[in-house]
Amino acid sequence: MTRTIFRPFSLGFLAFAAFLAIALAPGIAQEPSEKEAGAAAPSVLGARMVTTAQRGRLILDLSGATQYTIHAVTDPDRVVLELDAAGVEFDTPAEIAEPGLVGRYSVGMVDEGSARAVMFLTGPAKVQQAYALEAFGDQPARIVVDLIPDTAENFAANAKTAAPAASQADTASPDTQAQPDGASTGRPLIVIDPGHGGIDSGAQAANGLLEKNVVLEFAFKLQEYLVESGKFDVALTRDSDEFLSLEERVTLARENQASLMVSLHADSFSQPNVRGASVYTRDEEATDILDKVLAEQENKVDLVAGFSPPDGDNAVVDILVDLMRRDTRRQAYLAGDAVVNALDASVRMRRFPLRKADFFVLQAPDVPSILVELGFLSNSEDTANLNTDQWRDRVASALARGILAYFEQHG
Ligand SMILES: [Zn+2]
Repeated sequence: MTRTIFRPFSLGFLAFAAFLAIALAPGIAQEPSEKEAGAAAPSVLGARMVTTAQRGRLILDLSGATQYTIHAVTDPDRVVLELDAAGVEFDTPAEIAEPGLVGRYSVGMVDEGSARAVMFLTGPAKVQQAYALEAFGDQPARIVVDLIPDTAENFAANAKTAAPAASQADTASPDTQAQPDGASTGRPLIVIDPGHGGIDSGAQAANGLLEKNVVLEFAFKLQEYLVESGKFDVALTRDSDEFLSLEERVTLARENQASLMVSLHADSFSQPNVRGASVYTRDEEATDILDKVLAEQENKVDLVAGFSPPDGDNAVVDILVDLMRRDTRRQAYLAGDAVVNALDASVRMRRFPLRKADFFVLQAPDVPSILVELGFLSNSEDTANLNTDQWRDRVASALARGILAYFEQHG
């Protein structure tokens, strides 16, 4: 393989710029509010608990935004969410259909203007992240709390020191961060890859919206959220309307020893009713027709732009695939899973949102790589969302939370 069009990748490429404060709350940083007599407090409209042995997620649907705090309590071991609320408009089941890390939970009023959700644990756990979502479209405002397993010692320590207002959610302490390979800052490098660019516009919506522009806008937002978290260095494969071959994108990530590559797309499909976000990892054997079509469309962009495919085409791909460390693939899957999990609370997803397809841009044998299809420009609702600043903010912050969660757990 002798292609050598590698662009210089200077430090200037890395985004160390200070950004406006954007609340990417990785934990429960919220201080309790001065209570406004509960008058303006919203109602709790509904609650859902999803749990496995490795995870617990509580979602509260609310009629509006509110303040909340979270703390751990022992005997019995539980995590308690306190929030300002005017009422609880449903009865929670005490039992969970399929218990996991959380065995049962309850939601109820404890006082005028105060509600409480209690998650009873089957083992020691900690808050991985908790965050509030504003209402959007047909989705109500929400509070989302994610729990992950912890050691018994940590749980006991947290529970002891946790005054009701204290944050025991500083789960993202630097010492748990991934060890970067070679990055001098000590932070993992995330390479964000906005798809298409230049002569290759990508998909086009009926209203003229171009994929290459949508994903670039989105990439800037994602970059802001990731930089704001203070946990990552972030680079873009392109930060303007320029063409890059797929191979160049992969090479940029590899040469800079990225810890994760995130390709961004918003493609189109012949069936306009297909909509929602999805996340791909690479698999040459993937059989789903839609996934195949998407991957084939993407893999052809070099031809569209007049670039020849890589030398030897399949042979080269095969060798690279053979080289791909099993661990890289596993990491990509875990990253995809964390991202899907984070997006799921915020945005409309496709059914089975964690998918596999043979995307060429995901081929790096040493950089875990995922491809996020933000939505479909062939669907009018997705197109409207993709064109909305509020939606892009919401999804970019969710995606950043997912990436953060991945590095906390597996990085
Ligand atoms: Zn695309």
